[in-house]
Amino acid sequence: MHHFLHRNNELYCEDVPIRMIAEKVGTPFYLYSHATLKRHFLVFNEAFEGLERLVCFSAKANTNLAILKLFESLGSGLDVVSGGELYRGLKAGFSPDKIVYSGVGKRIHEIDYALEADILMFNVESLEELELIDERAGLLQRKAPVAIRVNPDVDPKTHPYISTGLKKNKFGIDMETAIEGYKVASKLKNINIMGIDCHIGSQITESKPFIEALESLKKLINELGQMGIEIRYMDMGGGLGITYNDESPPHPREYARAIVESLKGSNLQLILEPGRVIVGNAGILVSRVLFRKSGKVKEFVIVDAGMNDLMRPTLYGAFHAIEPVISTENQPITADVVGPICETGDFLAVDRKMPDVKKGDLIAVMSAGAYGFTMSSNYCSRPRAAEVMVKDDRFHVVRAREIYEDLVDGESVPPFLDD
Ligand SMILES: *Cc1c(COP(=O)(O)O)cnc(C)c1O
Repeated sequence: MHHFLHRNNELYCEDVPIRMIAEKVGTPFYLYSHATLKRHFLVFNEAFEGLERLVCFSAKANTNLAILKLFESLGSGLDVVSGGELYRGLKAGFSPDKIVYSGVGKRIHEIDYALEADILMFNVESLEELELIDERAGLLQRKAPVAIRVNPDVDPKTHPYISTGLKKNKFGIDMETAIEGYKVASKLKNINIMGIDCHIGSQITESKPFIEALESLKKLINELGQMGIEIRYMDMGGGLGITYNDESPPHPREYARAIVESLKGSNLQLILEPGRVIVGNAGILVSRVLFRKSGKVKEFVIVDAGMNDLMRPTLYGAFHAIEPVISTENQPITADVVGPICETGDFLAVDRKMPDVKKGDLIAVMSAGAYGFTMSSNYCSRPRAAEVMVKDDRFHVVRAREIYEDLVDGESVPPFLDD
């Protein structure tokens, strides 16, 4: 359920006509619904009622400070994958003891930053990383709280680029090496073993892979217990999918039910790292049609948002529904929706049956709240889009559209060019 609905042939976000925002803010812009964000977080969190759990929103899906702040106020923790995300999280007011830090390539200054901030735990992805964290913690005279991210080798049945829990993926440590890792960790002076972690992929549309991963983790926890190694936190990662087109992922309640069943009676504290399922359908990308063009074999709708604004269609072949902001009675067309960028891969939709929008019309690219703005770039020196949040009948620009000066910020011409 989201709050982007047509009223009198016009698309609204909650109680605000999207046309009106476009007139005030210009296009393209990302638009987020406060009510949808809030509802998605609460439904997900409440699905685990009865279990001790911490839902750590996965920042990389959407790092806008306003969105982070909203989740923080609802009791969320945060899953970060870089020093930059940790910075944003702290700035948004997250308590460090609700922040977990994942990622295969943590750098020294990032590790130090997280140690000094006193985060809940590092999700460690290699033995070398484990040793480095121990060393840095020693230098800073701290104990580093860690979980080992295990790779349970389950097939999440999603796009290969977003599968992360297969043997061939770069993420985590295989089950056998993980045991070795815990043995090593238990002997390292500056390491506190806190938990175990996995994250098997993204846009997963069935429960089974999660349950398989959970069972593997439980087995490992048992083995560790026999070795005298106590595990307190069980971090199941994120990955629950959403409906972009015709997928029917399990409802968060269904996803939670199996996990709750399986963990009842244990002393494990559950951590979850949902990203997409919380924000994906709570945001859209609004763009204006610049031109129509009829090719010999294709019809093109040329819009002012490109692959630099929304990379998912070209990166993953992802489907995003396209709706007109003002409904039209005209017969639907079949067209490619393309941006202004000089790449054939610059499309938002291919061979799409869609409304017959004309030059100057507004379109809404749906389900763009996750991995939309966060993956955007300045390619072709395009200033990044504005981000707007709506609450009831109000809207607020939560990130200003970039201006040309932003594009060259930090660049410098060396004096030796004049030699
Ligand atoms: C990306 C990521 C997530 C969130 O994944 P979603 O599919 O958006 O839920 C959670 N944990 C880790 C470690 C990640 O890298």
